[in-house]
Parts: sequence; C-alpha cells; structure tokens
Amino acid sequence: MSDVSEKTEWKLDVLNASFLCGTPILAFIGVLWYSVNFGISISEISILFFMYIVSGISITAGYHRLFSHKSHSASWPLRLFYAVFGAAAFQNSAIKWCSDHRRHHLKTDTDEDPYSIVRGFFWAHMGWVMISENEDKIEHVKDLQADPILVWQDKHIFKIGGFAGIIFPGLIGLVIIGGLNGFLGGVIWGGLVRLVMVHHGTFLINSGAHYWGKQNYSTKNTSRDSPILSLLTFGEGYHNFHHTFQTDYRNGHRWYHWDPTKWWIKIFSFLKLTKNLRKVPDWSIENAKMKTSYEQKENNLNSARKNDFNERLNNCTTQIRNLLKDLKKKRIEYKDAKKNRKMLVKEAWRQKKITMKLKIKEIKSNLMSVRLEFKNLIKEMKHQNNLVSV
Ligand SMILES: [Zn+2]
Ligand SMILES: [Zn+2]
Repeated sequence: MSDVSEKTEWKLDVLNASFLCGTPILAFIGVLWYSVNFGISISEISILFFMYIVSGISITAGYHRLFSHKSHSASWPLRLFYAVFGAAAFQNSAIKWCSDHRRHHLKTDTDEDPYSIVRGFFWAHMGWVMISENEDKIEHVKDLQADPILVWQDKHIFKIGGFAGIIFPGLIGLVIIGGLNGFLGGVIWGGLVRLVMVHHGTFLINSGAHYWGKQNYSTKNTSRDSPILSLLTFGEGYHNFHHTFQTDYRNGHRWYHWDPTKWWIKIFSFLKLTKNLRKVPDWSIENAKMKTSYEQKENNLNSARKNDFNERLNNCTTQIRNLLKDLKKKRIEYKDAKKNRKMLVKEAWRQKKITMKLKIKEIKSNLMSVRLEFKNLIKEMKHQNNLVSV
C-alpha cells in the first residue's frame, strides 16, 4: 500500500466535473424541448439504440477486452472502428483508459486502484473522474503506444469524439428525419442521451460490479458477478469471473450467460476480423468455483476436520481437471473420426462410433459422481459449521 502522506492534495477537475454533471442536464432539457416541439418517433429511438450499441461495444469489446486485456487480436478495420466510436463514448483515449484499467486490475482495492470501491460507491462510480489527485500516470501500455491507430486516436481524441459522438448522430437524424430538427433530434438522442447511458453503464461496472452480486470464482478482491448489470453493459456484469480470468474473451462463460460482447467477438472471428480468441480451460473455471465455495465454508472448522475436508477438495479438483481434459480429447477424437468415416466400411464405423460414444458417456458419468461428491462435501461442511455455531 502506498503511503497516504505522499499523495498530492486532491483538487476538482473542473472540465471533467462540468462535463459529467452538465451532460445529463443538457440531455434532459434537450429531450423535453424536442418532445414538446417535434414529438418522439421510432427514428429518434433507433438512432439512440444504434449509437448506444456502436459506442458501447467499442468500449467493451475494443477498449476493454481487446486493448486492455489482449483477450484476442483484431484486424485494423475493427481497431479503427473501436478507436472512432470508443472516442464517441467520451471516456478518454484508449491508451489512457487502458492505463487506468490495467492499474485497476494490478492494484484492485488498494490506494493505487484508480477506482477503488474501498473509497466508496460514488468514488468508484464517477468521483474518481471528477477529482484529480495525482498527475495523470500513463503506464503499462507500451504495447498500445506502438499501435498507430491508437496513437492517432490519443492525439485527436476530442475531434474524433466530437465528430463520431455528436455530429455523426446529427447527420443520421438529418438523413432519416430530415431538416434542422432531424439534425438536432440526432444530436439530442444519439449524442447526449446515449452518451449519459454509456457513461453510467461503464461506471456501474467500476462501482456496482464491485458491490452487488455473487463471488463465484474468487474472494481475493471485491469484484462480483451481477447478471442484471450484464443486461445494461453488453455482458460486462460477470465481473468476478473477469477479475479471476481476465484474459478470457468471455465474461459470461456459459452459453446462456448474457454477454453480447463475446458473441460480437466470436461472430467477427467467422469473418476473419478477429482471431486468437483466448479461453480459460473448463476445468480451471470449475476448480476455481469449487475452491471458492469451499473457502466460503471453511472458516469455523477445527483443524482436524479441515485437513480431511481439504484432502477431499483436492481429490475432487484433480479428478475434475483430469476428466474434463479427457472429455475434451475424446470429443476431438470423435469429431475427427466422424470426418474420416468414409474410409471405413459401414459396420466398422458403427462399431467405432458406439465405442467412442460409450467412452464419452462414461467420462460424463464420472464427472457427475465427482460433482455429487463435492456437493456432499459442502453439505457436510455446512453441517459442521452449524454444529460449531450452536
Ligand atoms: Zn478488465
Ligand atoms: Zn473491476
């Protein structure tokens, strides 16, 4: 932890504070004025959603999962798209954003975490943007400073943001609504209202996702998984998973987890615009989940019982790792064999298929047994804890 006395005194960042407080007021007045004079149609709402998606996804897929965490690689047209529409979100340049964000991961919950929740919800949400404590430190981003697109964006951030975030939605309004009122409608809905929504969506990850929700994968820091926040933030709400496995391109790792950012990245991989999508192995995720549930129950146990339970936990995690590795291998073997089945006579392929499917079934059934054994272990620990607390 850094010495608090070494800190320079904090002062209000007038530009940032006026921007953050002024934009919601301007958006509110703008919406009132526009609705009274011109009404609201599907066109204004469509511009709002279109701009919300392009600027929001540029922050989550671009600034966050691509630039900050290198969870995959992306070709230059996509990087340029993120640079232009990320600027439209008015959250600083990618280089500055990622410098803060990488520090947040390196120093989570300490004095050096720029948006540490330990300093309160408001600080983590937007206070840290409005108060400048130390000189802007740009660090841990040498790799990004070597990307000409990001250097260009950093140099012209306000011009790019002004065009992509304000003028561009105005031009869309001019085309689809028509006239000066169409332009103003685009600026108000696609510019101002959208800007406030994207701001607070992102801010909620720094505040709400360190405050509400479950800690499924780790209790080492305050990050939490909040599926509700994921609905507002293109899937960023699974923040405990993200802090535990930060290089994974997914935040919601299950297929049913609401994480449009992972689908976006995956779809672009089919178009060859993204590649090298990084995924943590399934066994690693399940083991982290098991260890976390175990740690949450072990506090009150006496050391003799603890050793016994610990041994059983290790046994479960080792088996899960081996079985999931084996399952993956067998599935690949089956897929390959299926591809080459024409090389076998019909009966030989039928026999081979049955044997391979049986093996996969056997592994799945063993997995179920280990998961059951783990469930029983947690139940027993709960029971022991109840005995201790009576
Ligand atoms: Zn992150
Ligand atoms: Zn965080």
